[in-house]
Amino acid sequence: MKSVSRAVRFTLRLVSMLLTAAVLVVSCTIPSRKRISEDPSAAFIDRTYQILFQKGCEGERFSFWFNNLKEGNTSAVEMIDMLMQSFEYQQKNYTDEQTIDVICRLMTEKEPSASVKENYLRYLNNGVTYRCLLSDMSGSQEFTALCERYKVNPGKITNLEGRDQNPAATVFVGEMYEEFNGAKAGAQDLNNWSAGLLSGDGVAPFLNKIVTGSGYASKAHSDEQVVDSLCRVMLGREANASEKEQYAEVLNNGVSISYVTSLIAKTPEFKSRCESLGMVPGEVILSEPRDMNYELTSFLTRLYTRFSGTRPSGEDLNSYVEGTIEDPSKVRDAITEMFSDPESQALLSSDDDFLSAVFEVFYGHEPSSEKVESYKIGLSHGITRERVLSEILKDPAFDEKMSEYGIDTHVEPVVPEKVIALTFDDGPYTPVTMRILDALEPYGAHATFFVVGNRVGNYKECVIRATNMGCEIGDHTWSHQTLTKLSADGVQSQIGDCASTVYNLTGIYPHVMRPVGGSYNTTVSNNVGMPMIIWSIDTNDWKYKDSQHVINEVLNYVKDGDIVLMHDLYESTATAVETIVPALIEAGYTLVTVSELAEYKKVQMENGKAYFSMRG
Ligand code: ZN
Repeated sequence: MKSVSRAVRFTLRLVSMLLTAAVLVVSCTIPSRKRISEDPSAAFIDRTYQILFQKGCEGERFSFWFNNLKEGNTSAVEMIDMLMQSFEYQQKNYTDEQTIDVICRLMTEKEPSASVKENYLRYLNNGVTYRCLLSDMSGSQEFTALCERYKVNPGKITNLEGRDQNPAATVFVGEMYEEFNGAKAGAQDLNNWSAGLLSGDGVAPFLNKIVTGSGYASKAHSDEQVVDSLCRVMLGREANASEKEQYAEVLNNGVSISYVTSLIAKTPEFKSRCESLGMVPGEVILSEPRDMNYELTSFLTRLYTRFSGTRPSGEDLNSYVEGTIEDPSKVRDAITEMFSDPESQALLSSDDDFLSAVFEVFYGHEPSSEKVESYKIGLSHGITRERVLSEILKDPAFDEKMSEYGIDTHVEPVVPEKVIALTFDDGPYTPVTMRILDALEPYGAHATFFVVGNRVGNYKECVIRATNMGCEIGDHTWSHQTLTKLSADGVQSQIGDCASTVYNLTGIYPHVMRPVGGSYNTTVSNNVGMPMIIWSIDTNDWKYKDSQHVINEVLNYVKDGDIVLMHDLYESTATAVETIVPALIEAGYTLVTVSELAEYKKVQMENGKAYFSMRG
């Protein structure tokens, strides 16, 4: 029994000895806490753990850091970075303020100053991470001195995310994002936006991309909100009263947000702010047509707003302005289009409203009362607004006004290859005149009607329709008198009475006359006060009353510049015209009024002078 227990005791002692030896061996391979307590790196590990976790570092962890710091595998700031990423540290859920305190104590051994703290808080609050702060402070004199004292390598933070590379830019981006999107930016957006901001042509072009992007543009913003946002983002402050007023007016005049962005980007305040944040200010490159000519855009916007009660969309303005810049004469088309809009017609329900709007926008003042009166006369009898507008757009005063916006709207007309003036005497006579107008209308063709004054009252409707179609109403005396038989006074009253009748119906005085029978003498010439239009083709429609005869007379003999005589009294003439008009169009003729023929052929018509044809 005794020998057994001895054997056991021996075995136990042996085991115990072996264990002690093993412990000794192990102790030699890992540094003993006691043996290295004087090493400054150990003190660095201790203070780091104390500040981060409020406890010391023991055992294998201690050995791990000690070895890595000693062997240069890990720098001081990398160690801090790794520990701050640890689960244990993250569990503490520190506030931004506490995080700043911790980092400052770790790296500078002191509390942060108020201004440093404020600055860092702004960074963290706008999505910059604590690693940016580590990176920032790792270059400080305090940290260098501290690391020298503890005999550790200070090191650098590598692989910084975009948002941590220029915290001032990130703050800028964060504030911009929040301003434009109404929410804080996520890490991904911050990284992308910061990279975009720092790598592009500068802040202004980048900003422009954001405000013109669909995210911002898809939300409704008032002009005032846009101005407020741009000032906050670009100048870092609220807009003052004069900026609000100035920029809101610019927007109200129809240019894009880019235009206002470009204005603010040009201010010294914006430029110096960007430079102080380490960013390139840059310039906004304007690309929308409506931003190319501010005066013109303002004019078209005022016009559109006045005529529709709403502001034009950017798209509409772009197309108006683009068309106008390409071909200034097209501004007339743009204006006509705006006026023809049913909304506009409804808004300006009375003729007075319509006319005052036209003159207000075109000229900024009322035109001569005589002009207004003439337009009112026509409008009250059924002359269309389009027709009145086309008269106004032909007025040299319009070209003059447009030249103020830097566009030359005066254009030489495109002369058609072959032109011809169909003329009809002795009407109006609704049953026939209307048929002739029906024949002309599908082709946009024009003719001249030399009316007899005392008939006009009975057949107003066809005179109005002819005028609205762009046809010309000429003077064919009051009661179809042969003028060569009359005195000077007689000629004047025959012509004058017919002219007044036409004016009192359409608001437009006849510019041309035709003497009855084509007869004139010196007294007639001296007293008609208008060019006398005779003819080069006489169809004798009144004599034969045969439509085929009329068709042959015209189609067999017609030449460029001809003036054709017919009478809108006979059904046979109307029937002939129904064949003649399409045949002439087919043959390449443009059917125009006498005045248009003179314009195309560059004939300066003179009062009292007879014209048989205009071949140019
Ligand atoms: Zn006649």
